[in-house]
Amino acid sequence: MKKFLSVFLLIALVFSLAACGSSNTSGTGTKGYVGIAMPTKSSERWIKDGNFMKQEFEKQGYKVELQYGEDDVNNQVSQIENMITKGVNVLVIGAIDGSALTKVLDEAHKQKIKIIAYDRLIKKSQYVDYYATFDNYKVGILQGSYIEDKLGLKQGKGPFNIELFGGSPDDNNAYFFWNGAMSVLDPYIKSGKLVVRSGQTKFDQAATLRWDGATAQSRMDNLLSAHYTTDKVDAVLSPYDGISIGILSSLKGVGYGTASKPLPVITGQDAELASVKSIIAGEQTETVYKDTRALAKQTVKMVNAELAGKKVPVNDTKSYNNGVKVVPAYLLQPVSVDKTNYKQVLVDGGYYTEAQLSK
Ligand code: BGC
Repeated sequence: MKKFLSVFLLIALVFSLAACGSSNTSGTGTKGYVGIAMPTKSSERWIKDGNFMKQEFEKQGYKVELQYGEDDVNNQVSQIENMITKGVNVLVIGAIDGSALTKVLDEAHKQKIKIIAYDRLIKKSQYVDYYATFDNYKVGILQGSYIEDKLGLKQGKGPFNIELFGGSPDDNNAYFFWNGAMSVLDPYIKSGKLVVRSGQTKFDQAATLRWDGATAQSRMDNLLSAHYTTDKVDAVLSPYDGISIGILSSLKGVGYGTASKPLPVITGQDAELASVKSIIAGEQTETVYKDTRALAKQTVKMVNAELAGKKVPVNDTKSYNNGVKVVPAYLLQPVSVDKTNYKQVLVDGGYYTEAQLSK
């Protein structure tokens, strides 16, 4: 009887432990437990990334813990610490500050947790196993080439006035976007076909901390009032849709967007809903679409292979040196989108419905 009772108690204990999960945790967990740390919900793309990954991992039998750091570095570090304590097998991290995770990843490594850098490279850690991202240099090339085409620079037109915006200086991607775009634009700046009236042609002068649209808007306000009271700006290099929206508000605030003062050519990135609508309305000119569904799927494939001890699919083993090692990466292809191809790429491709875009 005594033996029967203790077996019974043991079974009850096992069941109650199994039932005690957190509200952010879901999935069966037969294949493993994945902690996903995303940077912020303030930009739509990361919400899509998080949701697609969660769906895909769960479909394949993983238990998932998904957290957003809301652009607060300490917050992201404690979310990751928490995932380590909960016993995840893999961490998939879209870093807020790519250089701020060294200590917490030391801890993860001690617990034999695999680490995947998601979209943004994690720097200064030898424990980053793989990196799933897009061809970030190509993103910049697409933005720069779009401006080159639209202004007819190859045909010798110009000179035109341009202002340049960069992304967040704590995000490695920002440098790749900038360098890619400048590889196209810089020769025209040197030849005088593109004129940067503000003189702010260095990344440090053009960077936008945390990719914040309001910060970009106030920088654009300053540029316009200091350098464009008589001249007109013809193009703006913007690395991200949220920044483009801020720049557009600033431009409209001083009367751009009329027949006599048309809006400049303005690029972007992520094909966020507000920006695609702005493109359709003839305000923002272009964006660079990165299919977050494909990145989520690719990440799941890499995790599957890694946990099964199989060869992890990568297609780049040179580009992403994180200061300690070159992180093997899989790069997906970005696509330039404007008014002429948004239907084909975004609607036919199932990223948005017509109804979403026309609301
Ligand atoms: C991502 C971009 C995004 C930006 C701002 C970058 O790291 O690669 O897609 O526009 O962060 O969220």
